[in-house]
Amino acid sequence: MAQTQEKESQTPNAPTTVDMKDIVSLCKRRGFVFPASEIYGGINGFWDYGPLGTELKNNIRDLWWKAMVVTPPIGPDGQPLQIVGVDSAIIQNPRCWEASGHIDGFNDPMLDCKETQKRYRADHVFVLIPRNGEGPSLAFDKDAEDDEVAQRLKKLARGRPKSDYNRTTLDKLPFEAFVNIIGPDTKTPGTLTKPRQFNMMISTGGLSVTGGEETKSYLRPETCAGIFLNFKNVVDSSRVKVPFGIAQIGKMFRNEVTPRNFIFRTREFEGMELEWFCHKDEAPMWFEFWFEQRKKWWQSVGLDMTRLHYLEVPDGDRAHYSQRTIDIEYRFPFSGEGYDELEGLAHRGNFDLTQHQAFSGTKLEYMDPVTNERYLPDVIEPSLGLTRALLTLLCDAYTVDPGRPSGMYMNFHPSVAPKKAAILPLTAKEDHVPLATKLYMDLREHYAVDLDIKQNIGKRYARQDEIGTPFCFTIDDQTRADQTVTVRHRNTMRQERIGMDHVAAYIAAEMKKIS
Ligand code: ATP
Repeated sequence: MAQTQEKESQTPNAPTTVDMKDIVSLCKRRGFVFPASEIYGGINGFWDYGPLGTELKNNIRDLWWKAMVVTPPIGPDGQPLQIVGVDSAIIQNPRCWEASGHIDGFNDPMLDCKETQKRYRADHVFVLIPRNGEGPSLAFDKDAEDDEVAQRLKKLARGRPKSDYNRTTLDKLPFEAFVNIIGPDTKTPGTLTKPRQFNMMISTGGLSVTGGEETKSYLRPETCAGIFLNFKNVVDSSRVKVPFGIAQIGKMFRNEVTPRNFIFRTREFEGMELEWFCHKDEAPMWFEFWFEQRKKWWQSVGLDMTRLHYLEVPDGDRAHYSQRTIDIEYRFPFSGEGYDELEGLAHRGNFDLTQHQAFSGTKLEYMDPVTNERYLPDVIEPSLGLTRALLTLLCDAYTVDPGRPSGMYMNFHPSVAPKKAAILPLTAKEDHVPLATKLYMDLREHYAVDLDIKQNIGKRYARQDEIGTPFCFTIDDQTRADQTVTVRHRNTMRQERIGMDHVAAYIAAEMKKIS
């Protein structure tokens, strides 16, 4: 029996050479992700998940939930950690968002170009300023490729080299400097407006949230608030003791100024957040602990760890409540030579409980049953976008391989793959189909598997390669004689024979392997 989940034919650092266009088109063609409201012309920043995308998303969600809540990690004392889950309302009392700082402070600096009417986020526009102060400065979209930069320098600055310029972002410059800046999509300086703060919460009107007059409420911009609001309920109703965690997975909404890069930055998305409550003296230790756990998890779902980068977010760039933040970043196809945020790990101190206690007037202190110390615990928070995790695994899996009919395959780890296996009768001959159907009926009790009877075998393999099915089990003439089937491995296309009654155990073993 083959023991490896092969990666031999994978091109190293494939995502940097894979075009986002190809990923988006595969997602549409094979039913991973569709533009929302497509038949009405779409709606900017919203996406729908198709049959395979939904399976993939559910798998990632379930693997995270299992790693956090069902079988939480073993702690430093050798015992499993205590982590429980909640599922809180998307709309909460608006006072909650006053306390959390979202009403006053959840803003992005937004500006427009007077000439093109295009809108930008100031911290997502970088500016090249001539070191000698001569000539205009040039602004670029954060994701501008090197050749675009070179081309514009050629056209607008007579080919002056990039090394003649200092680089900064627009939000760091005073408005007076804007007169000399050529916007990302224009040829003349001075068209960019002054950045203004734009609140990113999406509000609902016409809701009588507190039973009285209709007031404005908000769709939650993060799931963690619902955890803090239930901190006392959880402590009072379950047997958890600090240190412990509360996890939540659910929809979040942010009125992003510039939704972009497919499902990377959207206005509606799903988040998976853990709030780990601990004593402040132990918080630095738990921060390290969770950092290691998150890396282990990414490895367990098959991510190529060499494409990750860990950014220790410096003072001044962190959220005001954060004492320490590490961004786990990934090299997406649109990241150029840099990286973009995949997941955040933050030490939030006890900011949230302090605020909600003050604004609600409800005591949220925890009393240590051993020492009788009363305190508001500190919080370590790993926060990951489920849909961003899905995009990351899509980009990571997309592997160009001109040597096969599909020209590519999706190198999903068996644990995340939407289909774990395909059962393929070699031909539609009478004795192949019943045997295949029997195997399918046995396996479908345990795994998401496909039974695919139609078309020639090459086309069926190609389809499974495109949707990232790790194994194809093929039933042929020999199957009836000796009850064996061939296993075709997606990555290497290598084939071997195994007993039909070993197929379920075979898949089970492959799902657990860490590559
Ligand atoms: P940014 O500064 O890039 O807007 P952020 O740092 O405010 O984002 P967090 O509040 O830390 O983002 O969000 C936690 C996680 O949620 C991110 O690491 C990412 O995985 C995901 N996420 C955040 N915003 C979006 C979005 N608009 N679309 C999809 N996923 C998102």
